Amino acid sequence: MTDRKNVIFDSTILNSIQDCAEKNNLSHNQDLRPVERKTYFEEGDLLHNMFEFYNLVLRDTRTEILYDNEKYDDLLKAIADYGQWYSVQKELLPSEASEVIFQFNAYANHTRMDGVTVLEVEKPFTINLYKDDELGVYYTGKIDRYTDTPPYGLVARDYKSGGQRGKPKNLSNQFTSYCYAMNSELIIVDKVGFQKTLKPEQRFEHHPLYYNAFKKEQWKKDTIWWARLYAFYIETNTWPRNRTGCDKWGGCDFVPVCDANDEETRQHLLKTLYVIGDHWDVSAVLEKDKDLTNRQKMSEIAGNYGIDLRIV
Ligand code: SF4
Repeated sequence: MTDRKNVIFDSTILNSIQDCAEKNNLSHNQDLRPVERKTYFEEGDLLHNMFEFYNLVLRDTRTEILYDNEKYDDLLKAIADYGQWYSVQKELLPSEASEVIFQFNAYANHTRMDGVTVLEVEKPFTINLYKDDELGVYYTGKIDRYTDTPPYGLVARDYKSGGQRGKPKNLSNQFTSYCYAMNSELIIVDKVGFQKTLKPEQRFEHHPLYYNAFKKEQWKKDTIWWARLYAFYIETNTWPRNRTGCDKWGGCDFVPVCDANDEETRQHLLKTLYVIGDHWDVSAVLEKDKDLTNRQKMSEIAGNYGIDLRIV
């Protein structure tokens, strides 16, 4: 029998470890979330789920829906109803939900005739990057949609909401891992900007990103290195602070805790400024049941409009 340590990464955990081990510990081991929520995470999640609904329908009935104005309008209405339902589950304000639904409709109308065929939706993967007697390194992820996109052909596409205009950064764990897993050199990132002052063609951008064999191999080597470090963190239960990570992404949620003057104050802040949220589960991509309730709701609402939505 081997006592191999298995490390399972997804892009959230790998990013988090690379940013700051203590941040990963507080966010993903202790599952702490700030009491004062930052709604852009929930808004992004809502938009993402509405796209899932849209793409499931397009996957099965693309031509029928896209070329029939009445059916297409019904589809958007069904997705808006679902968006309202989902926003209540996520405790978003009605104004926040309305903003996301507005942007979703604008994006759908803008890309309606883009010629993209959706082949698979929320495509999960698990890959083995390394294995010896001491260490196994696995990587999981879920690709928003796998498509046939003219003129590129078969390509994975990923939605990114909010953020700055312009090309996303190439040195991305997520996008490199998708290309590695799909044995592809290309991914397209679909940016959905929320800037109302810009025209749709300015805030909805599509960026092809390329990863050749050299880049993917470098990413794999780096990831295995980080897996060894992560295994060490877990084994020793040590989570060092990276003080260069505190200002990133609009400021780390845990600055008050890390900046506390003594342990008593730190414990007090941990109890008063944070609540325990859902646990981030890297193997959740393999558990189909987790999505079932959500997809059943999509199917139920689609049915209200006479739209057949296959939930698998
Ligand atoms: S405040 Fe800085 S040191 Fe503390 S968890 Fe966040 S990034 Fe790490």
